[in-house]
Amino acid sequence: MPSDVPTVPKAEWRAPRRDRVARIRERLRDVYGVPLAPPHEDPLAELVLTVLSQSTSDRNRDVAFLRLRRWFATWEEVRNAPVSEVEEAIRPGGISKVKSQRIHDILVAIEDTNTSPGTLDLDWMRDAPVSESRDFLCALPGVGRKTAACVLLFAYGLRDIPVDTHVSRVGMRLHLLRPGAPFEELHDAMLALTPPGAELEFHVNLLRHGRRTCHAQRPRCASCTLRATCPSRRA
Ligand code: SF4
Repeated sequence: MPSDVPTVPKAEWRAPRRDRVARIRERLRDVYGVPLAPPHEDPLAELVLTVLSQSTSDRNRDVAFLRLRRWFATWEEVRNAPVSEVEEAIRPGGISKVKSQRIHDILVAIEDTNTSPGTLDLDWMRDAPVSESRDFLCALPGVGRKTAACVLLFAYGLRDIPVDTHVSRVGMRLHLLRPGAPFEELHDAMLALTPPGAELEFHVNLLRHGRRTCHAQRPRCASCTLRATCPSRRA
C-alpha cells in the first residue's frame, strides 16, 4: 500500500468507470506497446520461478532458476533431492533455506494430489475451469492469489491477473483499485475492470509504468502520461 495514498473504506469506494479504464489502457499502450509473451505451457516452472522471485532482483531469480534446472533434469528429481541440495542450487536467489523448503513442499503437495503416483503434472489446468485451477494452486503451501495468477496467465494465457507491488501501487494511485484493499479484493477488482483478452497487456503495462515512472518513492508525475487522470498526481 503506497503511503502517499489515503485508505478508502470499502463502503465509500466507487469502482472506476469503464471508459476511464479503457482510456488508461490506451495511454499505457501508446507508451509501452503491446507485450509479446505467448503462454509457455510450463506451470511447474512458473510456480518455482515465482517462489524464487520473492525478495530478490529479476537477475538473481533467473540465475537461481537456471542453476536449479542445470542441477536437476526433472521436477521429480528436485522433489526427491535433499532440501539442502536444492538450497545450494538456488543460493544466488537469496533466502535459499526458506525457498528450497517451499519448493520441496509444493512439489510434494502436487504429487499427493495426482492420480498417477510419482508424477508431477499440472497439464490438466489447460482445459479446467479457471476457478478450479486457482483454488488448487492457492491450496498449495505458501501459494497465494498472485502466484496462482502468474501460473494461470503466463503458463496458459488463462483469465487471471497478478497484482504485484507495482500493479497495486499504480492501481491505487490511479484509483483503479481501492487504496488499502487486501490482496484478495485487489485481484478480484483487477479482473472486474479488465476485459477478457487484455489481461497480459494491462498487467505488464501497469508494471512497466510502476518501474519506469510511478516509482514508490518520488513518482515522476511531471512527465507521466496519466497525469491528467490521476487523483494522486504531485505538483
Ligand atoms: S501522475 Fe504520478 S502518481 Fe499518478 S500515475 Fe503518474 S506518476 Fe503515478
